Amino acid sequence: MLCRFCQKPNSKVIDSRSSEGGGVIRRRRECVSCGRRFTTYERVESGVKLTIIKRDGSSEPYLREKLKHGLERACYKRGFTDEQIEELVDEVEGDLTQRYKGSVQSPNVGELAANRLRQFDAVAFVRFASVYKEFADVQEFVDAVSLARRADDDPDLEEGGLFRADARD
Ligand SMILES: [Zn+2]
Repeated sequence: MLCRFCQKPNSKVIDSRSSEGGGVIRRRRECVSCGRRFTTYERVESGVKLTIIKRDGSSEPYLREKLKHGLERACYKRGFTDEQIEELVDEVEGDLTQRYKGSVQSPNVGELAANRLRQFDAVAFVRFASVYKEFADVQEFVDAVSLARRADDDPDLEEGGLFRADARD
């Protein structure tokens, strides 16, 4: 960790605390060379230890990257930075750890992610929901679209443009 002021590599940690439900660790450091203090933030890879139960009954460990990939695809070309997507993943992980212990059915993960996306970006929400919710009927789809429209009055949002080839691998 290079000192912000003198760029020397040695610093000692004088205080450290976690925030955002343990997802981020804030460290107060003091440079050994010049004695000045600075703060660093470390993002924890994933604090979520859950087993995902899939629709076919098989299970797999929860992987942050997998959730992130799904959200990235939904947000494709919507102009978000990696940092914004990471924060979105953090929010979904926060919901996951609050509600589930040990294991979670995969549709419930999709549900939590969709709820966060709805507040985040309307187009991304509908793209994501179309893949993960596997709409039971047309009405469910229409409801999702109208919810999304209420969440975001994006003039570019047209029904024909909601589904794109990139919504699914
Ligand atoms: Zn220094």
